[in-house]
Amino acid sequence: MDDKKTDNVIEPSFAKATDDAIAKVVSLCKRRGFVFPGSEIYGGFQGFYDFGPLGVEMKQNLKNLWWNWMTKEHDNIVGIDGAIITNPKVWEASGHIKSFVDPLSECKKCHHRFKSDEIESGKCPDCGGELTEPRTYNILVPTELGVIEGEKTRAFLRGEACQTIYLDFQNVVNSSRMKIPFGIVQIGKAFRNEITPGNFLYRQREFEQWDLQWFCHEREMEKWFEFWRAERMGWYKSLFTNPEKLGFFQHEKLAHYAKNAFDIQYDGKEIEGIHWRGDWDLSQHAKFSGQNLNYVDDDGEKYIPNIVETSGGVDRTFMFLLVDAYDESDGSDGRDTGDITLHLNPKIAPIKCAVFPLMKKNGLAEKAEEIYKSIRSCFSATYDESGSIGRRYRRQDEIGTPFCVTVDFQTLKDETVTIRDRDTMKQERIKISEVNNYLFEKISK
Ligand code: ATP
Repeated sequence: MDDKKTDNVIEPSFAKATDDAIAKVVSLCKRRGFVFPGSEIYGGFQGFYDFGPLGVEMKQNLKNLWWNWMTKEHDNIVGIDGAIITNPKVWEASGHIKSFVDPLSECKKCHHRFKSDEIESGKCPDCGGELTEPRTYNILVPTELGVIEGEKTRAFLRGEACQTIYLDFQNVVNSSRMKIPFGIVQIGKAFRNEITPGNFLYRQREFEQWDLQWFCHEREMEKWFEFWRAERMGWYKSLFTNPEKLGFFQHEKLAHYAKNAFDIQYDGKEIEGIHWRGDWDLSQHAKFSGQNLNYVDDDGEKYIPNIVETSGGVDRTFMFLLVDAYDESDGSDGRDTGDITLHLNPKIAPIKCAVFPLMKKNGLAEKAEEIYKSIRSCFSATYDESGSIGRRYRRQDEIGTPFCVTVDFQTLKDETVTIRDRDTMKQERIKISEVNNYLFEKISK
């Protein structure tokens, strides 16, 4: 489908649930440099976004947290970083060439297009018109390799990141001497020719996934499935400002090899899938590649390992963390009506601490710069001397900076500064020499 034709495609179930918060977050993201529409000076390109200076910091923090939690806080997990383009046979083996399809219906009257499986009434949700029969589209993104016309090889940008983990399974076992049960993780880009790109970062054509493939014996699948389901939910709950908005959705329609599948949802929308994959993936790749992908355990038992997969969206998590943290004051909390605060978890906030001189004169700016330099060697920090202190606090609240240090006249007398907490707006006076420890304790909590 060409790009123009997808412009009027709508995802109805989301459209209803979309609240103001997403629209407000979109505008904040652009204004403050979290996320920009892709190719904007050319009028944009649907389903593609760029992360700006603050967005890239926040996304990096998020990915580091996930990676460190997986590989350092769990035994037996190692990572890979696989190629985006693989041998095209991979997508035959995985079933994507045959079944990675979305049904699409078009309204005969207004020509809006919809994902057929999301239409509740059989009529056009926009004008009530009659819809065409669903047609299916494969959503793998093809590409061509080679330079000579007629000799080019058709390949695909990966439709999901996890496939390279299966391809590298044997290399990892042989090179790292991993023993079952163990996991391989990866964070990487995936590409889909989505027929309904939209809702900001929720449904893009290029996005990032974080995946764990946990390899175990078939008799232990139930145990590990439940373990990872609880573990992943616990991780998300520790990050979100309003963890009660997270929940599970259990799938009723399952793939033939699956015994169970759950989505972790934020406000009813999927951010991660926990999948029982059995031995399907490795068996398929063994069949299509002709390679023996058996694992041999210490007792000599040979088997194709079973897999529990946790596959989540970095961008969806990023977007919902912003939506969740976004707060516009009604004036009752000591802020001015309309003032925006992002109550982001300090661990993922793009900037941890801002440093201000109360005024530029009398040596305050020099002192503040000195303090800023000692903080920025440990934490992502910023320095701001322009505008009133109130305005400077507001600028930082709006981007989720959890702490602001102010240098005033007392600083010059006794080497202390005030440190203000974004959420409570309370200020404490602490010694300059204690600032980094203070930040460390608060941020690592
Ligand atoms: P959906 O049903 O919403 O299309 P999915 O079930 O196809 O998602 P998976 O294939 O399980 O998604 O991918 C794992 C994760 O990747 C999802 O939970 C989601 O967070 C993320 N994801 C999938 N498609 C997109 C997309 N088009 N844009 C952004 N993130 C996506």
